[in-house]
Amino acid sequence: MTEMRTLKVALLGCGNVGAQVARILLEDADALAARTGARLQLSGIAVRNLDTKRDVELPQELFTTDAETLVKDADLVIELMGGIEPARTLILAALRNGACVVTGNKALLAQDGPTLYEEADKAGVQLSYEAAVAGAIPILRPIRDSLSGDRITRVLGIVNGTTNFILDQMDSTGAQFADALAEAQRLGYAEADPTADVEGHDAAAKAAILATLSFHTRFALENVYCEGITAVSAADIAAAKDAGFVIKLLAIAEKLVDADGAEGVSVRVHPTLLPREHPLAAVRGAFNAVFIEAENAGELMFYGQGAGGTPTASAVLGDLVSAARRLVLGGPQRTETTTGHVPALPIDAAATSYYIGLDVADQPGVLARIAQLFAEHGVSIETLRQAVHREPDSVQESAELRIVTHRASEAALAATVEAVKGLDVVNSVTSVLRVEGV
Ligand code: NAP
Repeated sequence: MTEMRTLKVALLGCGNVGAQVARILLEDADALAARTGARLQLSGIAVRNLDTKRDVELPQELFTTDAETLVKDADLVIELMGGIEPARTLILAALRNGACVVTGNKALLAQDGPTLYEEADKAGVQLSYEAAVAGAIPILRPIRDSLSGDRITRVLGIVNGTTNFILDQMDSTGAQFADALAEAQRLGYAEADPTADVEGHDAAAKAAILATLSFHTRFALENVYCEGITAVSAADIAAAKDAGFVIKLLAIAEKLVDADGAEGVSVRVHPTLLPREHPLAAVRGAFNAVFIEAENAGELMFYGQGAGGTPTASAVLGDLVSAARRLVLGGPQRTETTTGHVPALPIDAAATSYYIGLDVADQPGVLARIAQLFAEHGVSIETLRQAVHREPDSVQESAELRIVTHRASEAALAATVEAVKGLDVVNSVTSVLRVEGV
């Protein structure tokens, strides 16, 4: 019987995810070897501080602070340090040395992906990053491989568990944003500095990756329009609920065709109203899900845990086994195709339905004036609901109007809202939120 080949695996980082990857590599060595056709030998683990207590007990002799030397000798490199540097330099060095690289670093991919992909192409090695989007959920490989014979038209993703937890908490308890955030921090779903999550930056990095693979065109972070959830109020959530919607932070990538037939892709992240019966509306707590529409496959949904050391390690190991198999079997490495060449569209070109809340004077003729103003701006109204209320100490009654429009462009909507604000019968515009799935 021929001796099984051994492939050296260098692990960079031993935090939440890295420690679980190391554990699985050691505990499941025989099963991984059987699936790969080679033994995956953990040759070392690079960390910042050798004295840090790890989540998993691991042989001390594996640890080093010299990541550079570790990378030089590896067949496969797993980068789970996070951040831009030194992760970027180490990944580039690994690729140039001919090693396949697996990473979960969405921040680096969104900022510097093209440089890394090109280096991997040049070296003829695999750069895999399934863990970078939606943690444990196998989503990038299905988009890149399983759907490569189809045309994806739209991707809607709940790809940030922290914000989904906060919005779900607000929806189920009526809490304000600040209280729901504090609860997320208490339970460990949100970091002490939650900016990257609540401002939508983390979801935007993932949106760029999803759009790149779905539309065979490289989209960078600057192509992604981004609005977080800090301005979503308990009143917005209550009004949405009353109207049969739930608010989710969605990463959206969709192909649009303009009046002249020119195609473009709108990539954006923003709070979005979804009808309660939409499959994504059922995604609760810190779970993630990605909903895909493709010309031939129709609608698909992928659901699961979007973060956490062990779930994310599952995605990393899947990439590792796949890359290792290619090293064993030979043949070309699989990279994403970039033959689409569809331009990224500015947010003004996006077209969605909108939910608009207005506080107006309760007078005859108000509805007609507002409806006429919408019509003048080319925004047609799908539903309009009215609730009359009176402040306790006031003799004046005001009415709350809740309007859902048909699909309209961002530009037309913005102009409409500005014009509505100028009407003397409008006390205030209480919310403007985009709607999907109607
Ligand atoms: P983490 O817990 O902060 O761990 C980072 C590890 O990298 C630590 O072991 C740290 O060493 C090491 N490290 C950092 N800078 C280093 C340097 N300059 N030199 C050597 N080692 C260094 O991070 P994580 O949560 O495991 O996340 C890792 C990556 O996976 C990130 O890119 C993240 O975005 C991605 N990801 C994470 C999750 C998740 O649920 N956590 C989900 C999807 C993707 P010390 O321990 O010695 O400080």
